[in-house]
Amino acid sequence: MGSKGDNVAVCNMKLERLLSMKGGKGQDSYANNSQAQAMHARSMLHLLEETLDNVHLNSSVSPPPFTAVDLGCSSGANTVHIIDFIVKHISKRFDSAGIDPPEFTAFFSDLPSNDFNTLFQLLPPLVSNSCMEECLAADGNRSYFVAGVPGSFYRRLFPAKTIDFFHSAFSLHWLSQVPESVTDRRSAAYNRGRVFIHGAGESTTTAYKRQFQADLAEFLRARAAEVKRGGAMFLVCLGRTSVDPTDQGGAGLLFGTHFQDAWDDLVREGLVAAEKRDGFNIPVYAPSLQDFKEVVEANGSFAIEKLVVYKGGSPLVVSEPDDASEVGRAFASSCRSVAGVLVEAHIGEELSNELFSRVERRATSHAKDVLVNLQFFHIVASLSFT
Ligand code: SAH
Repeated sequence: MGSKGDNVAVCNMKLERLLSMKGGKGQDSYANNSQAQAMHARSMLHLLEETLDNVHLNSSVSPPPFTAVDLGCSSGANTVHIIDFIVKHISKRFDSAGIDPPEFTAFFSDLPSNDFNTLFQLLPPLVSNSCMEECLAADGNRSYFVAGVPGSFYRRLFPAKTIDFFHSAFSLHWLSQVPESVTDRRSAAYNRGRVFIHGAGESTTTAYKRQFQADLAEFLRARAAEVKRGGAMFLVCLGRTSVDPTDQGGAGLLFGTHFQDAWDDLVREGLVAAEKRDGFNIPVYAPSLQDFKEVVEANGSFAIEKLVVYKGGSPLVVSEPDDASEVGRAFASSCRSVAGVLVEAHIGEELSNELFSRVERRATSHAKDVLVNLQFFHIVASLSFT
């Protein structure tokens, strides 16, 4: 088992070199724990359609490819389904407008540590040019060119004015970094005793909110440069209904209850030093509608077509809701699929196993509560660039 001071260097590593959802296809992988996100995305397809209907269609004789991007694509199948949906919807719009559809290009973008290999293996085969149109409607084929783009969406990723449509789901609540003051023992924002801001002090939550708003401002600045005139964006991220940022809603329950208690277990059992725990913070912020809106308005480049809080539901993938141990396992897997990589970087794999086995045990003994109360809300933003 790793000693208490292990991996100190990792703490100072920039988050964007490290962060990823759990790759591969194993039990705790994102690919295997994102069915709930898929369901939440499906329930919002009508909102995505409305946004796609706002995108300008280029009717010139030999138009450049229609270019769609998924930002924060991760390594599961959701991104492939979404891109497929976008391409089909836009093709249909070209057809009904009586315009020959252009070729399509899709960019899958995420941080460099994302498991792009697993994602690329999920892509259906590209249909040949000759049957491109006939095959458009056929399932199991791909009618668009693809490329993976590694990099942080808080900076420029594409050449100016080249993108028709940006999509991003369940990603923008990830901050570019834990605010420095939150891990600085001399600061009023030091998050003593906690690994997330759920229920934390006001200085700590204010530091998180500032970080979120500064990050979103950078995101919008970069996208405003990259999007074509007449283009649009559909953004979905974790959000909260409470005005109080110390109440982080579903994210608060995922990271602020059994996960938090499991860290405290490790400290109590002498496996992790209290300061080591305090040095770990989940870099997630679930904004309120107001938090989000202020930044879009201050940026000023995008018109807000729609900005709503939408109920997503439970993130857990459970087939037998009465089976407490299945619920506990699902809670721990869900938690590990999104935060496991960061935990392992901080305390190593063995202690991480210890931590998540305690998360599972605790969630199992609160299975009913976990099932009923762990509910996610999302901010959904439909923005157009004119
Ligand atoms: N959109 C997918 C996956 C969401 S998981 C789906 O709908 O299922 C969130 C993803 O956001 C992760 O893959 C994570 O690596 C990515 N992410 C977080 N911060 C990012 C950043 N700054 N730049 C690019 N991607 C980021």
